[in-house]
Amino acid sequence: MRISIPPTWRTRVDRYRLKATRCRDCGRTGYPPSELCRFCGSRNTETVELIDERAKLITWTVIYNAMDGFEERRPVIIGILETLHHKTRILAPLTDVLPEELRSGMEMEPVLRRITEEGESGLINYGIAYRPVLKKVEQ
Ligand SMILES: [Zn+2]
Repeated sequence: MRISIPPTWRTRVDRYRLKATRCRDCGRTGYPPSELCRFCGSRNTETVELIDERAKLITWTVIYNAMDGFEERRPVIIGILETLHHKTRILAPLTDVLPEELRSGMEMEPVLRRITEEGESGLINYGIAYRPVLKKVEQ
């Protein structure tokens, strides 16, 4: 029996570290990583990781009618965030938060979350999601 390895497995390291491409010419950082700078087309780029960076929430959308395999996670919230240091836009699911708690500009941090489990194979896909940074309440 031949087992095919899904693309998610081959790219897992990059996805878990949130690797991105920083351009040495224009200084901007694009995610996901690419060979050329997506802003100016330069090949003078380097790889950076965004996994340790917090991000601010720009906007989001709430999906109540989630696709198969995501039923238990309804509603699914997908956000657009901008990392605080590299100022990179990232499209990612949001977690540990209710839609009514979301505010644009709120600070969030990346966490590793189980995204799907593929039936009988038991293969579990993990991915990065963002959750609100918990702030201590002053008394
Ligand atoms: Zn560039």
